[in-house]
Amino acid sequence: MSTLSTMWTCHWAGRRIQRYLDADPAAPLTAQEAHRLHRHLATCAKCASAAEDFRGLRRALATWSQHRTPDPQLAARVRDTARQLIAEDAG
Ligand SMILES: [Zn+2]
Repeated sequence: MSTLSTMWTCHWAGRRIQRYLDADPAAPLTAQEAHRLHRHLATCAKCASAAEDFRGLRRALATWSQHRTPDPQLAARVRDTARQLIAEDAG
């Protein structure tokens, strides 16, 4: 039971981490969702690591105009991590 619930929560979190970090105005998280995501990131190393990758990518994008292109490997890793989080409970 708890494993299923954890997996579902990772799936849930994986779909929201990027929205949360980007504060996407087109699809904002509710306060309740942000709170729940926070709680999950505090207890799940896998999703916390994914969130860290997203943060790194955002920093790279933020400095893109002043410097060079963001690390394409980091961008690819972030995409893969998110895909894995979302796909894992599908099987
Ligand atoms: Zn998780």
